[in-house]
Amino acid sequence: MIEEDEVAGWGVTLAVGCECGAEARQDVGQALRGGELCWDAELYCRACGAGSCLGFGTGEAPPWVRDPLIAQHGTVRLRLTDPATGRVAVLRTVREAWGLELPQARELAEQLAGDGLAGTLPEAAWLRERLAARGVPAEVATGTGTALSPWGGRR
Ligand SMILES: [Zn+2]
Repeated sequence: MIEEDEVAGWGVTLAVGCECGAEARQDVGQALRGGELCWDAELYCRACGAGSCLGFGTGEAPPWVRDPLIAQHGTVRLRLTDPATGRVAVLRTVREAWGLELPQARELAEQLAGDGLAGTLPEAAWLRERLAARGVPAEVATGTGTALSPWGGRR
């Protein structure tokens, strides 16, 4: 079980080549802020002092941000605390969250009631907040298992 206060954000630092020839740091991160998923990436070179923002945004993180995060931290699963609660509410939440058709939403809702949905910790926290807003408790568990991931264009 992962507690609420650990859910602020995930980051990873990568070593990349700078134009000056030295090794620069590339920091990428993803977080949940005010109910919205955010990501950002920046570059800093200690040798020449070059620094730049490589990008930032809300919503799903691009693969070049998300993939290193998962490589570093792995994924977690979000699953319903009680699989029997709020079936309609769960279905509505997943439809809204990704703009899905009913059959796709039903598949994700079933996953949530079973093994759970796999994602990064901020992604799981984001969906948990949306479910909580409809009165459906869900919990974050470690270990991906066979869980599907609706994030990252992999559904
Ligand atoms: Zn440099």
